[in-house]
Amino acid sequence: MRLIATEEAFAPRAFLDELVKLADTRDDAGYRYLRVMYRHPELRQRLTDVDLRLAEMDEYGVDMHLLGLATPGVQAFGPDLGTALAARANDELAAAVARHPTRFAGLAAVGPQAPERAAAEIERGMTKLGLHGVIINSHTGGEYLDNAKFFPVLEAAEALGAPVYLHPTFPADDMIGPYSDYGMMGALWGFGAEASLHIVRVVLAGVFDRFPALQVVLGHLGEGLPFWLDRLDNRYRNLLRRGGLEPLGMRALDRLPSEYFRTNISVTTAGMNSPGPIRFVLDTLGEDRVMFAIDYPHESTGDAVPLFRSLRLPQSTLEKVASTNAERLFGIAPG
Ligand code: MN
Repeated sequence: MRLIATEEAFAPRAFLDELVKLADTRDDAGYRYLRVMYRHPELRQRLTDVDLRLAEMDEYGVDMHLLGLATPGVQAFGPDLGTALAARANDELAAAVARHPTRFAGLAAVGPQAPERAAAEIERGMTKLGLHGVIINSHTGGEYLDNAKFFPVLEAAEALGAPVYLHPTFPADDMIGPYSDYGMMGALWGFGAEASLHIVRVVLAGVFDRFPALQVVLGHLGEGLPFWLDRLDNRYRNLLRRGGLEPLGMRALDRLPSEYFRTNISVTTAGMNSPGPIRFVLDTLGEDRVMFAIDYPHESTGDAVPLFRSLRLPQSTLEKVASTNAERLFGIAPG
């Protein structure tokens, strides 16, 4: 059974250096978190030396990492530096894939803060660099992908068949207040709160009505949302019934909120090594919309792979989650 891990981080040294430099000028919770993370020598090495992970992949039988630029991506920077660092990261990624074409595939980094240039970078990534989608590290300066200014990015992703991996980041400035203590700004809680907010905005704004072929991927078993789908529908219908859409500045969707999760959204198991939730998400979204991931180097390959192999699921389901769903969605050549 081929095993493809689909939310695996890497980072060019120049990107991490710029990030730490930026973090040193800021004192808010998100950047405090980044300073702790990206100064850690072992984590730095595991992110920047892409080939280092091959030994660990071999040890656990992981055939391929689908690589994406570490959070918060280039979205932390201004449009010029962000665009330049995205291109550099994508060149480095394409070089890693060229060195190990059966072991690595990649998602293009883009800076949505320069939407037209981001759209051009998606095209370069998909057509010239042989990448398999896009990674967007959630909000960009406190703005979300339901904002029409980002539509050129989504239009390019849809047109080029590039799935958008909506990876978490720490909450935006106007949200982070109550998340600023106890490490809650990070992956412990704030990342999921922020990423789930983001995709709910995208769904309720009708972004998938406008871009019906757009595919979005969420990590961490869908950031809690599979558990919430019936309530989204139920409360959306309630607003419809009571004439609430217009007063609340909403437009009517073509379909119920949950339906977009079955046609436009897929999830990965990144960082969620717990059998019950994995089975629940398979049951809720269907076995074609769930993919294996580790979240290297933040999570342990030694936790994720044995847990996955021990799941009591039909072999045909395991194979879909292990690799064939990722091959189909991202256009990765069958191994
Ligand atoms: Mn991750």
